Amino acid sequence: MIIGSHVSFGEEQLFGSLKEAISYNANALMFYTGAPQNTIRKPINKDYFDKAIALAKSNNIEFKNIVCHAPYIINLANRKEPEKWDFSINFLIQELNRCLELGVDKIVVHPGSSVGITQEEGINNIIDALNIILNKTKDVNILIETMAGKGNECGRNIDQVANIVNTINSDRLCVCVDTCHINDAGYDVNSFDKYLDEFDQKIGIDKIKCIHINDSKNELGSHKDRHENIGFGTIGFDALYNVLINKRLENIPKILETPYIEIDAKTKKPPYKEEIEMLKEGVFNPNLFK
Ligand code: FE
Ligand code: FE
Ligand code: ZN
Repeated sequence: MIIGSHVSFGEEQLFGSLKEAISYNANALMFYTGAPQNTIRKPINKDYFDKAIALAKSNNIEFKNIVCHAPYIINLANRKEPEKWDFSINFLIQELNRCLELGVDKIVVHPGSSVGITQEEGINNIIDALNIILNKTKDVNILIETMAGKGNECGRNIDQVANIVNTINSDRLCVCVDTCHINDAGYDVNSFDKYLDEFDQKIGIDKIKCIHINDSKNELGSHKDRHENIGFGTIGFDALYNVLINKRLENIPKILETPYIEIDAKTKKPPYKEEIEMLKEGVFNPNLFK
């Protein structure tokens, strides 16, 4: 079982991220190189990076199970203001280069939102942007994430993702499947093999390089995108557990992005240690956070 969660990337960068993941008994992790809602980034610190390599090694965490996530303010679909589109492209190129420096070979990117244009136009802009980024970078794989279809989000169904992936046709362009997003997009996670069959037929299952395991606060097809703790949402524990142990996705990192637990009005704590333990046991505990 390759399982981890979203972790922070603070002063100590990947070294700190790894310490956090280890505290959750995880063997995979996902980080943003800075705040996801902005694009302020610090250079990679060599000393902390060396410490990160040693720590990963001594804890049997393989770098192929470390995933980066691009900030979600990046929008490759919207080209109305060309300087903003260019900024998004250049920022992602820098992110890929940071990944390269960190020895991380996967970055998850939200395809983008088609604000004021059609979804087709949005998708064409995304394809153009990704082609530029792939041409100007090397080695790091871009994983476009399956989206809930909130507002004007592109990548809301398998056909749209297929259009992007198959048009670009690069070994380095892959997919990250998010269980909350596909539920909200209208795909029933209780019949996940049916989803995988359609995915395989239209894109190819080998393109899936990361899975985000999240429950959802909203009903199937709600197009909302609000994550819930494992087993406490509308998807439920059994369906999510079956994704986790699905033989067709055996060696792919599974990442939790579930919400922090409120202890009191001022304090929240990460749910990941408890959720990982529960998933390893394979039995839902309704009193997990009590
Ligand atoms: Fe995401
Ligand atoms: Fe996600
Ligand atoms: Zn989400």
